[in-house]
Amino acid sequence: MQPLNTIVIVGGGTAGWMTATALSTALRGRYKIRLVESDEIGIVGVGEATIPMIQRFNHVAGIDEVEFMKATNGTFKLGVEFVNWGKNGDRYMHGFGRLGQDLWMVGFEQYFHKMRALGKARDLADYSIMRSASRANKFMHPRTDLPNSPLAEITYAYHFDASLYARHLRKLSEGRGVERIEGKITQVSQRPSDGHVDAVVLESGRRIEGELFIDCSGFRGLLIEQTLQTGFEDWTHWLPCDRAMAVPCESVPVWTPYTRATAHKSGWQWRIPLQNRIGNGHVYCSQYISDDEATAVLLSNLDGRPLADPRPIRFKTGMRKKSWNKNVIAIGLASGFLEPIESTSIHMVQAAVSMVLDFFPDQGFSQKDIDAFNALSRFQYERIRDFIILHYKLNQRDDAAFWQACAAMDIPGTLREKMDLFRTHGRIQRYNNELFTEVAWMQVFTGQNLYPESYHPLVDVQSEGGIEEYMGSVAHVVEQCVNVMPDHAEYVKQYCPSN
Ligand code: FAD
Repeated sequence: MQPLNTIVIVGGGTAGWMTATALSTALRGRYKIRLVESDEIGIVGVGEATIPMIQRFNHVAGIDEVEFMKATNGTFKLGVEFVNWGKNGDRYMHGFGRLGQDLWMVGFEQYFHKMRALGKARDLADYSIMRSASRANKFMHPRTDLPNSPLAEITYAYHFDASLYARHLRKLSEGRGVERIEGKITQVSQRPSDGHVDAVVLESGRRIEGELFIDCSGFRGLLIEQTLQTGFEDWTHWLPCDRAMAVPCESVPVWTPYTRATAHKSGWQWRIPLQNRIGNGHVYCSQYISDDEATAVLLSNLDGRPLADPRPIRFKTGMRKKSWNKNVIAIGLASGFLEPIESTSIHMVQAAVSMVLDFFPDQGFSQKDIDAFNALSRFQYERIRDFIILHYKLNQRDDAAFWQACAAMDIPGTLREKMDLFRTHGRIQRYNNELFTEVAWMQVFTGQNLYPESYHPLVDVQSEGGIEEYMGSVAHVVEQCVNVMPDHAEYVKQYCPSN
């Protein structure tokens, strides 16, 4: 191959600008980085809830938290509240971070299973600072100066305005040498010898050449699919929602430090509170509900007046058969899509950029590296896919055909194994680098009414009285900590009021 000189990023949504920021930070001017985007096409513009790993991205990319939150109308997030997902009327929180304290041989959740079966456990939220603080609408940064306190363990992510985040990253990337090129790509040129992309051509006729192309062009997958025809693995038989209707609405005085996902009859609705507005969207399955009905459901479940017309989005869940094909690496929606109940897509962008750096092809393209990259990417997609399918599979709603079909569907063997293992002793097998932790899985299992028949045998090494005392003290300390935490909205207004 020709020596790597120029990296061309196609697309300037969250994926494109996160990639540009990370590469320009890590590569420090060693290569020319160009980003092509089209104002006329625009960005998908949703994707406003994140998970805690984004802090690592922001840290490595040298993003100042206060500046970034001010610039994006950001708020803090401690987890996701799920409403109506088990039975209609059920409500549970998937909080970040861990539960209780691991004092003994097995995880806290195992003691919870025993005491719950004996009718001696409190609400799961009482044992977690993230869940208890969410319930009280409170937030503060972790107190690392109090290493033994739950206050030191506060684990958080952000809600932000996706368009403003892309704009913020653009400013940073341009400051680090990334060249932005505005224009619509109408042609992609490939080398006759091996089919590698050697240039993208704009409507104006301008040719942008490079040796490595990062396809961040969104669902269309301009290079990875339209040009290289890599193929897409369709997962709609497991995740059948295929459309969303999104609308912002007026804010309310309480800024919940969590995302809410409310199940409706043929899908579910997200609620993401920002400083200036609330982002809402109804994700639904077009086989069961029309666009007009879906819009009516969305509009009748808002906190305040809508601030725009509802915007339709169509998607297909699944992943590209290969994220890296020839000299094109797809990142973001171009590489695949899993619906956003657990806010994982932006994380997948971050994970992909980090893998690009791990396998950085400065000495030509090695098929072994490409295969390893694709295998890792598949592993990440499939594990998250299983976690998301669990939310659908584990419903007990008898009021809607959509939910009954989800409860009856076949599921991947990897998920079936996890469910079977949990059902007996509450064990959770977590494979290497799997994103969601044992505690995350346990919260969804129990939140949607799947409790294990028994618990880990080592729990019985401790006396029942001892466990009761220990769990009571955890709940007491958590309660005291939440009492001293400030109100989330007040904290944000002081710390990072929007510009
Ligand atoms: P896009 O935003 O679509 O950007 C594509 C870019 O490519 C644009 O700049 C466009 O101009 C450019 N482009 C395309 N074609 C051309 C061309 N021919 N010439 C020039 N430029 C071109 N993720 C989360 O983490 N949390 C969430 O809460 C969340 N919610 C979501 C809700 C929905 C309904 C959907 C669909 C997605 C959600 N996501 C969420 C995913 C998240 O929105 C995306 O992962 C993220 O926005 C990245 O998108 P992107 O940059 O890949 O694509």
